[in-house]
Amino acid sequence: MSPAPDARAERLAALAGEQGFDAIIVGDLVRPGDSGTEAMADVRWLTGFTGSSGIAVVGPEIRAFVTDFRYLSRVATEVPGSFEVVDATAEMIPAIAGLLSGRVGFDEAKTSVEQHRKLTEKLADGVELATVDGPVEALRRIKDADEIRAIGEAARLTDEVYGWIEEGGLAGRTERDVAVGAEARMRELGAEGPSFPSIVAAGPNGALPHAEPGDREIGRDELVTIDMGAIVDGYSSDCTRTLVDGEMSARGREIYDLVLAAQLAGLAAIAVGAHGRDVDAAARSVIEEAGYGDLFGHGLGHGVGLEVHEPPRLSKRSEDELMAGDVVTVEPGIYVPGELGVRIEDLVVVTEDGPLNLSTYPK
Ligand code: ZN
Ligand code: ZN
Repeated sequence: MSPAPDARAERLAALAGEQGFDAIIVGDLVRPGDSGTEAMADVRWLTGFTGSSGIAVVGPEIRAFVTDFRYLSRVATEVPGSFEVVDATAEMIPAIAGLLSGRVGFDEAKTSVEQHRKLTEKLADGVELATVDGPVEALRRIKDADEIRAIGEAARLTDEVYGWIEEGGLAGRTERDVAVGAEARMRELGAEGPSFPSIVAAGPNGALPHAEPGDREIGRDELVTIDMGAIVDGYSSDCTRTLVDGEMSARGREIYDLVLAAQLAGLAAIAVGAHGRDVDAAARSVIEEAGYGDLFGHGLGHGVGLEVHEPPRLSKRSEDELMAGDVVTVEPGIYVPGELGVRIEDLVVVTEDGPLNLSTYPK
């Protein structure tokens, strides 16, 4: 895909200028030489770099990329030529410090106290460090056409795996067997891998929102909650369906229909300008009015992109306001301890014309 990183660096440089920064440091200032995926998603979005060690410094007058010898050839093919490449094979922090002047923003959430101290010790006179709140995360929210195509393909592929699971049947198999099979199937269909460890939770296990698939055999007529997603071109999908191999009990049907009604109400509330907490309330009120409010203990949804959980949030306390180009999940659930659980999750693009649903597997 063509992430147009030059244009993205320009957007960040403009944001830096607006907020009075001479530069913003983007990357992992917790483990700068061998990074976690969360901070590297920012770096990938900004520069196109897909390796695990690289820090970008971007401002109105600077565009630099700091990495070590392992990644120099990758940088040459992935990172645009407008970035000055700095070989920091000896140590990352002094190399970064050497690039900085004036007022410099860093993301507190991706910086450790230790690395902050090391950086401060190496700064030239007159350089001031100041926190800036998730600058790249904020820009990453709005997905361009290429990003939506990748997420849509990841969602389509996940739908195909659901079809394959239903065809093969669930009763008599273990949760683990279904999860392992689904992830293998995803790769066969062209995914880079699952976007998170797949959840397959049958019967009473369905009451645990983050159940790990175990050796329990799935029974006939039992509700089975499957939550999974695929990665395509670095972008994730996320989809939950609650299936049954056989007949749903009357109790199961009652809970299922309620969750579905809540999910549809949540989807209907998705709009440009809608507040995250109001979308959450639209779905939650359906469940609360039926007396099950206490059994829906998580937020309604989250953004999805290079990370499977990213801004914005749809939850009781969310301050986020939806924008065209946001990609979010809508996933209410009811979890009856010791008995059963139902969750239904779709992935949608927020557009001026309302939500565009990327999850098309039947509910
Ligand atoms: Zn999910
Ligand atoms: Zn989700």
